[in-house]
Amino acid sequence: MTMTTGDRLVDLDEVLTRYEPVIGLETHVELGTASKMFCGCATTFGAEPNTQTCPVCLGMPGSLPVANAAAIEATIRIGLALGCRIASWSRFARKNYFYPDIPKGFQTSQYDEPLCVAGHLDVEVDGETYRVEIERVHLEEDTGKNLHVGGATGRIHGADHSLIDFNRAGIPLVEIVTRPVPGAGAKAPEVARAYVTELREIVQALGVSDVRMEQGSLRCDVNISLNPVGTLEWGTRTETKNVNSLRSVERSVRFEMRRQAAVLDDGGRVVQETRHFHEDTGSTSSGRSKEEATDYRYFPEPDLVPLAPDADWIETLRASLPELPAARRDRLQQEWGISGTEMTWLANAGALGLVEETVAAGAAPGDARKWWLGDLARRANDTGVELAELSITPAQVAELARLISDGTINDKLARQVLDGVLAGEGDPAQIVAAQGLAVMGESDELVAAVEAAIAGAPDVIAKVQSGKVQALGALVGAVMKTTRGKADAPTVKRMLEERVLGS
Ligand SMILES: [Zn+2]
Repeated sequence: MTMTTGDRLVDLDEVLTRYEPVIGLETHVELGTASKMFCGCATTFGAEPNTQTCPVCLGMPGSLPVANAAAIEATIRIGLALGCRIASWSRFARKNYFYPDIPKGFQTSQYDEPLCVAGHLDVEVDGETYRVEIERVHLEEDTGKNLHVGGATGRIHGADHSLIDFNRAGIPLVEIVTRPVPGAGAKAPEVARAYVTELREIVQALGVSDVRMEQGSLRCDVNISLNPVGTLEWGTRTETKNVNSLRSVERSVRFEMRRQAAVLDDGGRVVQETRHFHEDTGSTSSGRSKEEATDYRYFPEPDLVPLAPDADWIETLRASLPELPAARRDRLQQEWGISGTEMTWLANAGALGLVEETVAAGAAPGDARKWWLGDLARRANDTGVELAELSITPAQVAELARLISDGTINDKLARQVLDGVLAGEGDPAQIVAAQGLAVMGESDELVAAVEAAIAGAPDVIAKVQSGKVQALGALVGAVMKTTRGKADAPTVKRMLEERVLGS
């Protein structure tokens, strides 16, 4: 295994003058079932190593698996959401390979009889829609987890020894495999990212997994090949394994396009292999040469009965699917009267659900968008957290908007109130009361401030009375200053006019 950051790379623009990229994605989703795929062991993330195991998931001789009905149902629901045909007959198969984290010596998976086939997912990039065909959605079990101890990188290379945690072994895993996606051209990296983003949202909407890429409950293998422009024959593909963030999906495609182009330009041959993605450099390096299906000696699992999902049950599941993300975005765009571009901003900022909840709590859609995409987005960005992680709730943002629209505070005071909410000082109305932030009415205090301003600026008054009415602006500013921004500027202006011009 060698680092290949020294690989020659071709500029992306130049790659596209000579080659057409073809991408393909294999996505693994760990289901959030309470128990494992073929035994009753718990699936809690982060438990003490090897405390959630039993003879079945440790592969002890004589132990027998029983399929988890909730996992089968979740897989069918994913298939239905992706427009797949659900098989009326489906079987598990043994995928034979020897690896330390596979205690049985094989993974129970599905081969030529998967649960769901022939679906699709449409994704949008820069206003263009790209259709990604789904080849299959099948159910399998996760492997254990190797921990390589003593090295600098956590990889096996350079480690002193390795430990295995079997808590993850046997957790239900759904694999979603696309057909090759040609025709994305320069947008191939973005299309790959948009596909994983949309798929993640669908799975989240279905409520069958927490789809946390950083915890590995959604993992992506990214296939990419180049074929010379104008030819029909597809090039040799590489498969970058376990890419674990949306950004990395995009970067890994971009890197492989540039690397493969350089290999082909030099008259070389792209090797069919798996590759590792390196977050720090944005590069990939060679893993192992890719096995063919025949290497796994698949055969039907003799210890499990075939699955024959009842047609009525499938229709019941279809009818109970929740509103899917694309439909939800269309509906909200209509309801809020915003453009597709604005909707994309909202979705990309992770603000869609927050704005929706803020509107549900009584705010006008325009106000909700303004606060989440404006001040709050800026504060999230400054502190390096996601919008949803800010310590303010949609109900509090709605309350803030209400305090502005009923004239209690203005936008400037609202920003001070926001500071208070984010600092954990309470709800907006409480902070307004506690800090005396409400806009002043025509109180004795305000009258005194207005009269003091007039008395202190005889030269300005003379100008105004000689016809330069706009000179009053300086006095409005002075009053706003003495009241520390709590006065309402139009009210101050009216009070000054009444006194100076007698109108
Ligand atoms: Zn078990």
